[in-house]
Amino acid sequence: MFLSVCVLCLLVVAPVLGAPANDPCSRPRNKLLFISFDGFRWDYDRDVDTPHLDSMADDGVKAAYVTPPYLTLTSPTHFTLLTGRYIENHGVIHNMWFNVSTQEKKQYYQSQFVDGYWDNGSLPIWITAQRQGLKAGSLHFPGTAATYQNETVGVRQVEPFMYDHSNETDWRLNIDKVIGDWFVQQDLDLVTLYFGEPDKTGHKYGPDTPERRETVRQVDRTVGYIRQAVQSRGVAERLNIIITADHGMTTIRRGPGVNEIILTDIPGFSLGDIKFHLVDYGPTGMLLPKDGMLEKVYSALKGGHPNLHVYKKEDMPERLHYAKHPRILPLILLADPDTSSTGFTLCSLIRVGGFETVNIYPLMCHILGINPEINDGSLDVTRHMLVHSGRVCETTEDSSSSLIIGLSVLVGILVLAFVVMTTWYKCKRDRESHSSEEHTEMKGKHTNF
Ligand SMILES: [Zn+2]
Repeated sequence: MFLSVCVLCLLVVAPVLGAPANDPCSRPRNKLLFISFDGFRWDYDRDVDTPHLDSMADDGVKAAYVTPPYLTLTSPTHFTLLTGRYIENHGVIHNMWFNVSTQEKKQYYQSQFVDGYWDNGSLPIWITAQRQGLKAGSLHFPGTAATYQNETVGVRQVEPFMYDHSNETDWRLNIDKVIGDWFVQQDLDLVTLYFGEPDKTGHKYGPDTPERRETVRQVDRTVGYIRQAVQSRGVAERLNIIITADHGMTTIRRGPGVNEIILTDIPGFSLGDIKFHLVDYGPTGMLLPKDGMLEKVYSALKGGHPNLHVYKKEDMPERLHYAKHPRILPLILLADPDTSSTGFTLCSLIRVGGFETVNIYPLMCHILGINPEINDGSLDVTRHMLVHSGRVCETTEDSSSSLIIGLSVLVGILVLAFVVMTTWYKCKRDRESHSSEEHTEMKGKHTNF
């Protein structure tokens, strides 16, 4: 009971981003377990029974979807979660590290160990938390292996090369470690925990397949296991859990009859004019033309294929926030999505609308009671999800749906996922007893995107 009161006090007292670290209401501190299930698309819980996710949503808050930053690759989007910065601001612009002078490229796993790629001015939340006296850990989360301004996350586990990210037995061992050892024994305040599914199954079999649905059942069992572990180890009273994902996925058809874009077939385009390219990865590409060749390459590609869009980096739509960083190459290519995958509606049962994932970082800092670094998010976007005077505010309105749909179509991936947060089990009881009046109070307020 004391802890529940403490939380309410913290949320009421803290006026803006981040409660002061010495806020008396933050003792004993809130703990935070931040979980990412890679590639968990916003609607993956709709065609599979997910009793554990459902019960977590009932006890906490669930967003209709979240919108990741562009470009929707695993390392860039996870670093946005850790920093609250758009990709053009944090600089981890791709899963691949590359050097345009030497033509060297490092794939996702090897790039995890290139410190300079990650340590680029933006501090992940672990380091910020540690500098303000908290203890942080990370298991398999992208960015865990790197050193930031001579500091690493204090407790960490980096997966070995060729690690099997799908093994449910391993998942449970890792959960036992995080809950029992890290949170209980070592008294960590913050742990980020990464699972490589359902992304891997989605890539292998497709997002709309029985195999993917079975993997979502595995995810759901795992959520149940986590919550049970939290209860049985006695940390439920202090532990917040946020579950989210880095991006979604859509079906891209291959084979005869499919309109493939082959750059070298486009008249006037020559690989000989290109100094460096990154076009063999995902629905987008980047080109660095040789000196003096930019206009020629741009002119050839512009209008060269009806389903290909070419931007000079300075002409990229501003809302994508993918232009400013010097690592971004001068020409950016976007392919049209498979139009058969577009179109979705928002579920009226969901309590809060969607928001950009840059806003999760200030929420985490607030929960932990630490001062955030400069970031691109705002606590105002998620503040209504928090327990406030014993209540969770609710809304089903979503003024931004058309904007989000437009962005998804442009990006070419249905990039929506979900966030669930439990703030103590008292939360549910409070909400149930107050839900009718809250709904009235909040109507019309949810417009600030
Ligand atoms: Zn991913």
